[in-house]
Amino acid sequence: MNRALGRDARDLPILLRAALEVAEQALRDIDSRPAGVLMRAVERVGLPREGLGAAGALDRFRAAFEPLMTGSAGPRYWGFVTGSVTPAALVGDWLTPVFDNNAIGQTEPGAALIEREAIGLLRELLGLPAELAGTFVSGATMANMVGLAQARQWAAARSGARADRDGLYGLPPPRVLSGAAHASIDKALSMLGVGRRQRVSLPLMAGRQAVDVAALASALDRADGAACIVVASAGTADTGDFDDLAAIGALRRERDFWLHVDAAFGGFAACSPIHRHLVDGWESADSITVDCHKWLNVPYDSGVQWTRHRELQLQVFGNSAAYLPPPGAEAEPLHLAPENSRRLRALPAWFTLLAYGADGYREIVERDAALASALGERVAASAELRLLAPVRLNVVCFTLADPEPGRVARFIAELRADGRVFLTPTTLGGVPAARAALSGWRTEERDLDVAWSAILEAARRGHA
Ligand SMILES: *Cc1c(COP(=O)(O)O)cnc(C)c1O
Repeated sequence: MNRALGRDARDLPILLRAALEVAEQALRDIDSRPAGVLMRAVERVGLPREGLGAAGALDRFRAAFEPLMTGSAGPRYWGFVTGSVTPAALVGDWLTPVFDNNAIGQTEPGAALIEREAIGLLRELLGLPAELAGTFVSGATMANMVGLAQARQWAAARSGARADRDGLYGLPPPRVLSGAAHASIDKALSMLGVGRRQRVSLPLMAGRQAVDVAALASALDRADGAACIVVASAGTADTGDFDDLAAIGALRRERDFWLHVDAAFGGFAACSPIHRHLVDGWESADSITVDCHKWLNVPYDSGVQWTRHRELQLQVFGNSAAYLPPPGAEAEPLHLAPENSRRLRALPAWFTLLAYGADGYREIVERDAALASALGERVAASAELRLLAPVRLNVVCFTLADPEPGRVARFIAELRADGRVFLTPTTLGGVPAARAALSGWRTEERDLDVAWSAILEAARRGHA
């Protein structure tokens, strides 16, 4: 055995304690770690011949890279839509590679049962009906891809074809109808061979990012026999807006189309009786996307794809080989997801769902939403800033009072350099803007005050 490997095997308990110390210190200081960190070059090292041992690698990590780690697990990283990691999720994630069971199916009974139980717990948390079956994937992009792969299979079947077997050659393209779809929808259409251009952006309600349902109804009527796939948004990244899922669900009862709901973060509105109305109607969807590394606050990478059409999912992702378990009564993840071998992503989710339950998640969602709403009020009342959309759940989209593009870019760059809060830029109706998305369990009232000071100072400098 290699010397370094032999030494590490012998010293494993010591190494784990060293890693624990690093973790304890990083978590103790997480409130003061800069939310955002600017990119800079580090000295490169080549592959060592003998190896440094884990302790040597840990030293280099601490010296070169730990200072460059952003506070994305901390309380004021409000860019993109970013969850933190609950204590129970961290415990679950730490234990995952200790066992390193390959979550392909029944050959690993512990993994298979945990995954099934985690899906059940998440289904209860979100109030989804039993007809929707869930599969863990790496995130919302993959969940969108897996859902739309089934929609593609459904669309081909309408022409009497099996897309998984024969490909898409000679088939009429489906029509993909959406309001303000997330960019990952187009990426999924690209990966699936459907093509980005098959997606039609429909008119939005005035001043909203929600689709005009009357325009959707008439687009469906004008489809001329083409198979239609409707992609509805439950929580848009720019403003956190929601399509009227109840109205789209009602259309679904009268007309034949596939309904895919991208509820990556907005699905967690279902955890709270105050916000649940935003997803009313989503239960009629054919496929739904929910991200776990956002508001469930588990580590990357984790999302769940929900479907009413297991048989189509098995057609697309079934993976038969003599040495592999066949698709059984209990569908094996191996036959349901793009990956064959896969990490037991369910374990952190299982831990946190059991640890904090319905009340825990209700509180996190309501607190983040209340803080986002309070931030929106401060923005609306300030002379320096302008709120660009009402705060519907947890996203605050705003700009400078004078949103000249150079100023707004400077404003965001200043905040990055300052480090107290991390926001990401966007453009809304041609206006350059910043957006704050609150979806971490650590964020509290005092963080709003810290972030607000940083935002105001940067806005004043931006206007100067
Ligand atoms: C974040 C997000 C995605 C993409 O999710 P990843 O986890 O980054 O793959 C898709 N749709 C919506 C609405 C999102 O917020």
